[in-house]
Amino acid sequence: MMLKVDLHLHTTESDGVLAPAALMSAVASAGLDYFSITDHDTLAMYERHGALLEKFGRKVIAGVEVSTNTGDREVHILGYGVPADGGGLDGILVDRRQARRIRAEQIVDLLQRNGVSIAMSDVEQRAGAGMIGRPHIARTLVDGGFARDVSDAFDRYIGTGCVAYVPSSQITPAQAIRAINESGGVSVLAHPTRNAAEELLDDFISHGLAGIEVYSTSHTIHDAERLRSRARKHGLVMTAGTDFHGPTEMNPLPGVELEDQDLSAFLARLQR
Ligand code: AMP
Ligand code: ZN
Ligand code: FE
Ligand code: FE
Repeated sequence: MMLKVDLHLHTTESDGVLAPAALMSAVASAGLDYFSITDHDTLAMYERHGALLEKFGRKVIAGVEVSTNTGDREVHILGYGVPADGGGLDGILVDRRQARRIRAEQIVDLLQRNGVSIAMSDVEQRAGAGMIGRPHIARTLVDGGFARDVSDAFDRYIGTGCVAYVPSSQITPAQAIRAINESGGVSVLAHPTRNAAEELLDDFISHGLAGIEVYSTSHTIHDAERLRSRARKHGLVMTAGTDFHGPTEMNPLPGVELEDQDLSAFLARLQR
């Protein structure tokens, strides 16, 4: 049987474009069997907007996407079935709001020193009440005519190794994996092809990584097949998600399809 799920969604509580209520409308339209809102470094969706989730019952899986760094590589670790009040994740979900504001100021400063004059106030306006992420800066760069699109802004200015690159976190993948596992959650490597995080898979497994995001709209069929066989080989659970940050032409709604048996190990591992 095919399932339609999306275990990787963002709202305006981090750098998504849709506010929590609007995202829930999109989720309802998509008709998902299971979903998880995995905002960056915050459980605000569960702490503050829980009422929006009630009608979805057991289709909801609490989640968070933790930003980590190892060497000069940024790695995102998803935590599922974590305590919705954040208890036990204190070490890795410390108030990142302030840290992210300071980091955004550093990035804007570096941009200005390199002749790219965008204003911090424009970036702040885009972030609204949520936390500031690089996508807000990227969109400001696009609007200022400094980049063609968001991806160009990352490639030329704010991505890893660029003039205005500042890492978002000093937490390592190992620390995030351990904290998620110890809280009773399931730790999963997000978008393994990005930043070649997949190369470090054995290391993550040695630190207790439980799963890997196999199905993603950003994966080729080749990627998905390879990740699926690696998951099987190492006894990792498989997850599926689009890293939805808002409707795009390619993906107007959240959701990705997979065989139910590919998700069963993940579902069985969740304590709920
Ligand atoms: P931050 O947490 O502020 O470092 O921003 C990370 C977010 O930026 C990711 O979750 C993606 O949404 C986005 N992002 C990272 N790299 C790229 C890229 N090369 N192109 C477009 N978006 C990206
Ligand atoms: Zn994001
Ligand atoms: Fe991510
Ligand atoms: Fe994400």
